[in-house]
Amino acid sequence: MKFSRTILTLRNFSLSSLFFLILAFSAKAQLPNLGQTDSWMKGAVAAMERSDYETANNIFRNLIDSGLPLPEEMPYYFAETLFQLNQYDNSANFLNKYLEITGFTGENYEGARELKLRLQDPLKAIQVCQLCDRRGYRYKSCFTCEGQKEIEQDCDYCKAKGVVGCSRCAGSGMITRVNVFNIVEYFECERCSANGRLTCPVCQGSKKEVSACRTCSGSGQLSSDQICDHEPHEHKIMGLLRLNNGNAH
Ligand SMILES: [Zn+2]
Ligand SMILES: [Zn+2]
Ligand SMILES: [Zn+2]
Ligand SMILES: [Zn+2]
Repeated sequence: MKFSRTILTLRNFSLSSLFFLILAFSAKAQLPNLGQTDSWMKGAVAAMERSDYETANNIFRNLIDSGLPLPEEMPYYFAETLFQLNQYDNSANFLNKYLEITGFTGENYEGARELKLRLQDPLKAIQVCQLCDRRGYRYKSCFTCEGQKEIEQDCDYCKAKGVVGCSRCAGSGMITRVNVFNIVEYFECERCSANGRLTCPVCQGSKKEVSACRTCSGSGQLSSDQICDHEPHEHKIMGLLRLNNGNAH
């Protein structure tokens, strides 16, 4: 069997595909191409039985990608596969969808309840871990600020022009006044010396400012595609270095 279609990346996967799942379920009455769906499902479940969850994962993703109606039990099997691949957040999404759709009547209701219990600890570990995002993906240092959170970048206030329009004269350089004879008089704007523009008060004309990095919103970190093991890796690397040094001497 060949499944060479594009595999969705893990991160942008869950919400759009859940929505898609619902659509596919509601389109079930039309039953187009059941044979293909059937053989994919059998292939995926067989892969699961021999603990080849990577293959099962690829088949399920192909199935979702194909736009064919999804069998009712599919979200359960997919949730179990995702659990085995440590994608706990994604697994919980599909499991909840399964229970929502099948209620107590699903063929795999008992298995689903049991999976829900198994998910509790891993989901809790994600919640308390500071090293990963709320979906369990490891943070990496922001490539723009290199984890510094603040960075010198184009001044946002003046959009890197170094000057801003004078607000007193609305950029015209002139002020109008109506005198007692009801005649309009023109004066040069004192604030901007009739230039209509002022040096940017944020960057003082340098066009640059040091401010919260816009790539990471000042957090210094970005989510990666790597599933978090909730262990601080620096320590492991330091340990290895120490070990290597020990061997060298
Ligand atoms: Zn940054
Ligand atoms: Zn002015
Ligand atoms: Zn500026
Ligand atoms: Zn973590």
